[in-house]
Amino acid sequence: MEVIKDEEGLDIELDINLQKRNLELSEANKKLLDDHGILSIDFMGSVGSGKTSLMDRLIEKLKDRYKIGVIGGDLTTTIDMEILGKHNIPVVQINTGRECHLDANLVAKALERLDLNDLDLLFIENVGNIICPADFPLGAHKRVAVVSVVESPYIIVKHPLTFQTVDVVALNKVDLASLIEIDLNKLEGDIRKINSRIPVVRTSAKTGSGISALSRKLNL
Ligand code: MG
Ligand code: ZN
Repeated sequence: MEVIKDEEGLDIELDINLQKRNLELSEANKKLLDDHGILSIDFMGSVGSGKTSLMDRLIEKLKDRYKIGVIGGDLTTTIDMEILGKHNIPVVQINTGRECHLDANLVAKALERLDLNDLDLLFIENVGNIICPADFPLGAHKRVAVVSVVESPYIIVKHPLTFQTVDVVALNKVDLASLIEIDLNKLEGDIRKINSRIPVVRTSAKTGSGISALSRKLNL
């Protein structure tokens, strides 16, 4: 079989400049957050993996201990931020239009809309996919990949970069695992092959199982 690798593409110069600029802006975001004593966590995952539902559970659990804010990226809708806003916490929606990921510049704009003096924890929900968000650090202190067990059995091996760059993996919707006969150990093994030290937490936003463990892995 003939295989063409992306490195042979013509736009590599542009990509490098773009990513370099993004990295600079992400460092500025991180400094701004540090200056305000805010811990921030970027959640990445496919559409339907359960990012919003997991964040909803975490907010419910943590909102008495932390002043939490949320920035959410979505192509066109505000559905997820409406859900999380019900906790009476500040939420900022970024509608990216055609862009399939958040970038540090968009997050910088969203940070301007938040009262940073009144926050100590910031959740960022990235646009729903696990390909390009890996290339665009936002300045968050930690990155979480959310993978649901009902995605493809090859979901991990097809996205190696994401699992190299995140700090924690939430293997979500485990309540459905037995129903569809998916092997959780196999999925977890795939993750460990890419990143041997990464914490993997089995979660169900539906039943609430694993939410405390996830929160502990995030040092919250
Ligand atoms: Mg969502
Ligand atoms: Zn993208």
